[in-house]
Amino acid sequence: MTMTITHLGTGSRGNSTLLETPKARVLIDQGFSGAQLQKRLARLNLTPEDIDCVFISHHHGDHGGGARVMQTRWNTPVLANERTALELDLLPPLTTHFAALDLIRVGDDLSVLPVPVPHAGSDNVAFVASHNGERAAIITDLGSWTDELVTHVRGCEHISIEANYDEKKLLGGPYPYSLKDRISGRGGHLSNDQTGQFLAEVCTDATRTIVLTHLSQKNNRPHLAESTVLYHIADVFTGDMKISEQDGPDFSHYIGQPTPPENEKPLPKSASLHDLR
Ligand SMILES: [Zn+2]
Ligand SMILES: [Zn+2]
Repeated sequence: MTMTITHLGTGSRGNSTLLETPKARVLIDQGFSGAQLQKRLARLNLTPEDIDCVFISHHHGDHGGGARVMQTRWNTPVLANERTALELDLLPPLTTHFAALDLIRVGDDLSVLPVPVPHAGSDNVAFVASHNGERAAIITDLGSWTDELVTHVRGCEHISIEANYDEKKLLGGPYPYSLKDRISGRGGHLSNDQTGQFLAEVCTDATRTIVLTHLSQKNNRPHLAESTVLYHIADVFTGDMKISEQDGPDFSHYIGQPTPPENEKPLPKSASLHDLR
């Protein structure tokens, strides 16, 4: 009885994460074109028709831009809060609205809890998915965090969270000051340091796997994200940490029993997935 977590790709050019249990198969966010989604699912021997439903965190294009095409092309049900559904012009017959902290059941063995997070100009949520008593959190696009988020994420077996920028790279980089302020503000994105601080608050002995997501291509580097976050959590986390980049899927994590060695399985490398949008 396992839940598999596979990032199809994360970053400012599109985000989507596949959660699979024995009885449910859902996407968290769909920020890819239809063709791009098909290519990425094909690497897992899946098609969009295999997806039961899609949860959208917020309306920004890299998270919700591909939600409507799933409705029009494949009749996929989409779940989002009211503001996000409105902004994305989702089709009412295939759209279910959720409110913050509504526990949503999919199939017989998956529950998904939306938890509000601050992200300017949107009504963004993180998702905590539960299967058989174990939990995976998918958290992205937040400038800061709340006690409520800490409460719901603490002790999750798996945590995927953005590590968007390296502070020195952002401040010394080419972006105009107004954009630097927006990214680093309370409603922007988490820096590597902030992500490390958040993880230090929520990791427990139960936390076995972490994936860092949504790295800025201009203002971050994988080795900076990983080393900065590890600096903050070295005392509380001894599990496996990976980085999801823009062109996935590259790997899957499992929670529940039985688990393969290290809770992680590499995916076969196949055709390049570059620039199919
Ligand atoms: Zn966003
Ligand atoms: Zn984003």
